[in-house]
Formats: sequence, structure tokens, C-alpha cells
Amino acid sequence: MSAAGQRAAFPDSLCHSCAAPPRYVTSDRGSIFIYCPIFKRYPPQPVHACTAYAPRPERGA
Ligand code: SF4
Repeated sequence: MSAAGQRAAFPDSLCHSCAAPPRYVTSDRGSIFIYCPIFKRYPPQPVHACTAYAPRPERGA
């Protein structure tokens, strides 16, 4: 899935910039779910606050 497609789902979710890293899953109906490997579940979206959030390092940094 493209980065743009990933962000189309809950664009203001913290998960998109999280180092976890989240996994994007598309259902048969085309719905996008964001799986968190830290909590091992699909957190209710959009996530605005998360105790396990760590910003993903910039590429090349
Ligand atoms: S740790 Fe929190 S912010 Fe990061 S992917 Fe999981 S639920 Fe989202």
C-alpha cells in the first residue's frame, strides 16, 4: 500500500509517525486497519495519545 494510501486512513493518527512500526492491513472490503505490534492489537483510531508512542527517526538521520 502506498504511503498516501496509508495516511488516508485516520490522517491525524499518531500511529503513522510511530517507530513501532504499525502495520497496515486492508480488509476484503477495502477498509484500512492499523495493527500495533507493541500492543498486539488494532487500537481504536484515530490515536491521539499513546503511552508507547516513539517518533520514527527521519530517513537518513
Ligand atoms: S505504539 Fe501507540 S502510536 Fe505507536 S503504533 Fe502502537 S498504538 Fe500507534
